[in-house]
Amino acid sequence: MKFIVNRYIICVFIIFMVSKYVIFADYKKYVEHNVKGTVAKIESKFDKAKSTVETLSYLKDKTCQEMMIPLQKIVALNPTINSISVIRNGKYYCSSIVGMNISKKVTPEKEIYIKEKNTLTGLPSISYYHRYDKANGIQFFMKGIPFHLEESRVGNVTLSNREYTISKDNQFGVHASNGEEEYPSSKYDFLILLKYDTWASIKSYLVDNRLIIVLSLLVLALLKGISVKSVFFNKEYYKLNEAIKNHKIQPFVQPVVNSKEQIVGGEVLARWITEKGNIISPLEFIPKIEKFGLMNAMTKSLLMQLRECYQNMPKNELRISVNLTEGCLYDDEIYDLCKPLSEKFTLILEFTESTEFEDRYKIIQYMQKFRDIGVKFALDDYGTGYSSLQYLNYYQFDFVKIDKSFIDDIETNRQSLKILENIILLANNLDIKLVAEGVENQNQKQILNDLNISSHQGFLYFKPMPLSEFNSAVNHKV
Ligand code: C2E
Ligand code: CA
Ligand code: CA
Repeated sequence: MKFIVNRYIICVFIIFMVSKYVIFADYKKYVEHNVKGTVAKIESKFDKAKSTVETLSYLKDKTCQEMMIPLQKIVALNPTINSISVIRNGKYYCSSIVGMNISKKVTPEKEIYIKEKNTLTGLPSISYYHRYDKANGIQFFMKGIPFHLEESRVGNVTLSNREYTISKDNQFGVHASNGEEEYPSSKYDFLILLKYDTWASIKSYLVDNRLIIVLSLLVLALLKGISVKSVFFNKEYYKLNEAIKNHKIQPFVQPVVNSKEQIVGGEVLARWITEKGNIISPLEFIPKIEKFGLMNAMTKSLLMQLRECYQNMPKNELRISVNLTEGCLYDDEIYDLCKPLSEKFTLILEFTESTEFEDRYKIIQYMQKFRDIGVKFALDDYGTGYSSLQYLNYYQFDFVKIDKSFIDDIETNRQSLKILENIILLANNLDIKLVAEGVENQNQKQILNDLNISSHQGFLYFKPMPLSEFNSAVNHKV
């Protein structure tokens, strides 16, 4: 048990560490991606301005008056440009807004030019300066760049030309390194400074990745479900295994009677007795026993308990049957346990073909091995649809147990009665003895007796009982 719990904790720990690492790495990537996105958006604004340079090249030698209209046209058509100024021979020559009346004295030196106050608006401005040569060029005053800075969701981002800065609320500043992370543009001479805001970025990371997070949580929940299930699985296996080992799964016996209602034998039926003394039905635990591959172990335990009970008793005339699955037939220990039992009474092994038998010849060969030590075989649940007449031929069963569902029908269904008559005929021909299962009332008993089926098993006579009770019942009634 300790081992199971430890394994579970280790699993959860590994999942936690892996997801922590994966999420952390992904989160770092997310922040980087976000800021690089801002850089790319600003670059594309400058790209749009730059793309007009070619169109404007023919204006190089034109007068300001001649170039005013084309400049204004470009501004009107290009939403990223506020205005255009032409620099000629190291001086401002012409502006799309004021023509030659430019008061600016100092021409731009940097490609990205940041100014504290625009002459027209009085607000800080960003411009892109395209230089034809040392003294000539064209300057684009940009629109809406702070908007992209505002869009950033991982912290405060500022645009810098390494001399001055503009922040998201359009504040002018002087570039000073305050521990911000730098994301330079590879196309233009600017960089984005990131002042990282942990909560803002985690919040946006969670919002942006909600689908992936929900999916991951689902996967985690599923994994947890599986591991809980596997613990449950192991716990159940452990409990069943312990119950088998400690003989808590015990052989109850339901007597089989003849036409005089004398006990002629009985069927061993497993019962799980809990710590509190409750009795659990095999219908509840047999499927789990099968699932966990504990069928052979349980059968061995039941046979051992039978051996313990009968080893000091004299040989008797009873026919005692035990339910067996195909796998048990190939188990040498089961064979060894059957030997002493078949010396005490007629041991019958009951089979049901709920699934097709896998290897017919192998089964016949092993059945013979058991037959050689006096064991008989019964075909169980006959009439449920699983067992067919051909099985009787193949395996030469000594007994056929007619299923309760069939017995339930004989009172009302003429067809069932007809089929039963045919089975009786066939059984007589093949020298097979019939046992009627699940006889519950006098009417069924009468019909069966009239049909000459004399071995009955059912609640009308006895319910399954502990082995000791069965032995006392035998001694009283035989
Ligand atoms: P089964 O082998 O067909 O056993 C007969 C079942 O019918 C038993 O149920 C028995 O209690 C029930 N029964 C007998 N007479 C009547 C009746 O008049 N009315 C009603 N309503 N039921 C009656 P049980 O003991 O609950 O066992 C159920 C099944 O579990 C068995 O069906 C058998 O397939 C399996 N089983 C029980 N013990 C073992 C075992 O030791 N090994 C294996 N492999 N299977 C077992
Ligand atoms: Ca049976
Ligand atoms: Ca049966």
